[in-house]
Amino acid sequence: MLTEKWKKKMQCIKSALRSVFFPEKYACECCGREVFSGERFCAKCLSEISYTGENICERCGRQVSERCDYCDECKSFVPCFDKARSVCSYNDLTRKLVLRFKNGKAYLARLFAEKMSEIAAREFSDADALVYVPITRKRLRKRGYNQARLLAGEISQRTGIAVADVLQKKKDTEDQKKLTKKQRKRNLQAAFAVTDKVFCKDKTLILVDDVMTTGVTVNEIAALLLGARAKKVYVLTFAAVPFRKSEAESDADE
Ligand SMILES: [Zn+2]
Ligand SMILES: [Zn+2]
Repeated sequence: MLTEKWKKKMQCIKSALRSVFFPEKYACECCGREVFSGERFCAKCLSEISYTGENICERCGRQVSERCDYCDECKSFVPCFDKARSVCSYNDLTRKLVLRFKNGKAYLARLFAEKMSEIAAREFSDADALVYVPITRKRLRKRGYNQARLLAGEISQRTGIAVADVLQKKKDTEDQKKLTKKQRKRNLQAAFAVTDKVFCKDKTLILVDDVMTTGVTVNEIAALLLGARAKKVYVLTFAAVPFRKSEAESDADE
């Protein structure tokens, strides 16, 4: 039987040996489990990330059961943006990750932007500038950063496409859930504004955000940018819900 003292000593020796053989010690970005050799996620979490594959709607980029031109929703309601693409599907794991990103773990922007940049280079090579979904000044003060702005900055570094500050959010729209579809639309239209219409004219823009839930927000902003005579608007998000939820159960989209 080992005494407590010896147990402690053994633990010390073990961790010292481990730091010699595995100097790169990290915690899984999602569950916090210890991972080695520079991996960002543990094997379990990695297996749960659902990367967007081949079967996507050409328009909204959401995963569909088989490859098609447009999903049923895009057929019945054609979005204003030209094309939207996302890195992965929004599931329990990505929801956790995005929450961490919004609540202090700003460095996750680099991780998200890696794959977002690949998509931008592949799918949106004709883009002139990156724009991002804005947050209100009040929220910016509270959170300390706009997560979409951070993503746009990281993507810009990797692709060389410049970030343009052309959008503003004038008021928060958290109580959207209680509103009817029509009211929600009106509310959203009044919440956002294009601050530099001269810049937008004839430009092909990539609108960046962390998550696309219903897509109502990015669609409204795309409409505003096109109203400012932008040539095309693409949407690029880290995660997208595979199928649009009903308006009522959607998140606040910000
Ligand atoms: Zn994990
Ligand atoms: Zn679609």
